[in-house]
Amino acid sequence: MRALDALLTVGLAPRCAACHAVLDHPLHGSVCETCWHGVRRVLPPSCRRCGQPLPSWRTISLAVERCAACRRRPPAFDAGAVACDYQGELRAIIHAFKYDGRRSLARPLGALLRDAGAGVLDGADAVVPVPLHPWRRLRRGFNQSSDLARTLGVPVRHLLWRPHLTRPQAGLSPGFRRRNVQRAFATAPWLSGATRRTRITGRVIVLVDDIMTTGATLDACARVLKAAGAREVRALTLARAVLAIRHR
Ligand SMILES: [Zn+2]
Ligand SMILES: [Zn+2]
Repeated sequence: MRALDALLTVGLAPRCAACHAVLDHPLHGSVCETCWHGVRRVLPPSCRRCGQPLPSWRTISLAVERCAACRRRPPAFDAGAVACDYQGELRAIIHAFKYDGRRSLARPLGALLRDAGAGVLDGADAVVPVPLHPWRRLRRGFNQSSDLARTLGVPVRHLLWRPHLTRPQAGLSPGFRRRNVQRAFATAPWLSGATRRTRITGRVIVLVDDIMTTGATLDACARVLKAAGAREVRALTLARAVLAIRHR
């Protein structure tokens, strides 16, 4: 194994999918150890509702454990967890995963999700990937959230679809983001009434997405599942991005 590793390094010099440095151990995966070490995990305390980090243990009472945004406007999902910060190395790794088609990265990224999401996944009946619009799905060839969801050890159900193509959320204010995705999702039209009753009604469902900024997309998805009868909807996200608003 080690000899093959060395042979590959010398002969083909495969490069890290994120930083493009020559890989020391190409058989260990397409991203180098330095990049994985650079991933910043979201550490407790975090908001029980959305999973975003809270400023400090001292400033919150145990009764609260919710961030200011969730106290002001509670999202439609009941609980949430976020694994990492969307910056530096992780941003490059997610980029390689989504846009360069490095689908084998779903496994190590899914491990980060499982670590952060143990509480959220506990007692879950199903995980539901946030769907892409069919056009986006066709262009990318896969839905990154489905690939992540498949690594979590809970049945994956495609209960939602995205009939409306919305503009990208990047650069929009929180209010615009909410309105942009408000009617973007629906329960999948291919589900029979019986399937809806067995898979949604009274069930605990965990939504899975790769990146969360304000949580508007997850909120819109949770609303649809709640309206369809889900008992509890939780949200599990790989990375949290800080909102950047472009001023035009
Ligand atoms: Zn690297
Ligand atoms: Zn929150």
